[in-house]
Amino acid sequence: MSATVSPMLPTFARAPLAFERGEGVWLFDSDGERYLDFGSGVAVNSLGHLHPHLVAALSAQAHKLWHTSNLYHIPEGERLAQRLVDSTFADYVFFTNSGAEALECAIKTARKFHASHGHPERFHIITFEGAFHGRTLATIAAGGQQKYIDGFGPKVAGFDQVPFGDHEALKAAIGPQTAAILIEPIQGEGGVRSVPPYCLRGLRALCDEHGLLLIFDEVQTGVGRTGKFFAHEHSGVAPDIMAIAKGIGGGFPMGACLTTHAAGEGMTPGSHGSTFGGNPLAMAVGNAVLDIVLAPGFFDHVAKMGLLLKQRLAELKDLHPKIIAEIRGEGLLMGLKLHVPNTDFTTQARLHKLLTIPAGDNVVRLLPPLIISEDELADGFTRLDAACTSLEQTLLQKELTV
Ligand SMILES: *Cc1c(COP(=O)(O)O)cnc(C)c1O
Repeated sequence: MSATVSPMLPTFARAPLAFERGEGVWLFDSDGERYLDFGSGVAVNSLGHLHPHLVAALSAQAHKLWHTSNLYHIPEGERLAQRLVDSTFADYVFFTNSGAEALECAIKTARKFHASHGHPERFHIITFEGAFHGRTLATIAAGGQQKYIDGFGPKVAGFDQVPFGDHEALKAAIGPQTAAILIEPIQGEGGVRSVPPYCLRGLRALCDEHGLLLIFDEVQTGVGRTGKFFAHEHSGVAPDIMAIAKGIGGGFPMGACLTTHAAGEGMTPGSHGSTFGGNPLAMAVGNAVLDIVLAPGFFDHVAKMGLLLKQRLAELKDLHPKIIAEIRGEGLLMGLKLHVPNTDFTTQARLHKLLTIPAGDNVVRLLPPLIISEDELADGFTRLDAACTSLEQTLLQKELTV
């Protein structure tokens, strides 16, 4: 944070803040100043900071074995994969180090499925405007946002984007080359835009009708964030392939691609790989995260806190109609659509020692750790209220000066 030029490639617009340690829902900067974390490192710190069970699991593994490569069996990985299979639609798991890599595996799995059935020409994947699937060359093409695509050479072929919620455009986009439909059950980066459960059911029916694979990107929505293990469970339909990451590592970098036996058919030995994916450290932490989130009552806690947050946010909107336009989201993945610029809001919140995250469509995301208590939520509400009041004062001053 000094005035000298940073050696970091300047791809991020960073807030003028650095943290030294964390504990639960709190982060502490070098002056000992305490911030309430309603961002969770973009839905990553699902169990908050320094969760004792995660610290114990990582420390124990660090004293045993760090890395062996996928040339050998990794028992902790087999165990984690089995637990994911037992609690989802899936039959197979491939471990990655990030969300984008999980999506890459999902895209390759869908394309290989059709190729292995004698239809290599079926490699097109339908995606939706406002989507975000990562920053690799294929995932920026999948996300379809021009600002992420421009300047990086030819866009990876085979991604057909349709407007969000336009059923006719979707049907028209399906052709003989279509392999799959890829969607986030709730668009995170795109502005906390939920896909209604009946639409997910409609997508499932459409895929079945046309022999397409349904891929869910639950990198942000998964692992309890919406009050269920995965957000698509609210709809009652399951995908064929699913990408997860963020919350599954609780802060340790990891992701996974889950698939049914049928959809994973083309992925034979040698067809895909990763040096680090599923390494013993990540697997130990992933299992520890599941110990907590799959324990009886955990998702009920998230759902209860989510409902409470939604109620308080509705109250906040009534109190500050000039600031907040709309409340969006599910569970502890909430969004405030604003009348003022969302970056003004995150700045004001930060000045009130509350961390929030901007998203597309002029939304601010609230993603507290899933372990948050009622008192900590109330504390967050007080800070949000104060931030809105400050923003109103700024608006008033602007009105007075014109
Ligand atoms: C964050 C995110 C990704 C990309 O994950 P990385 O770990 O940054 O590669 C993909 N999809 C969704 C929905 C995300 O929120």
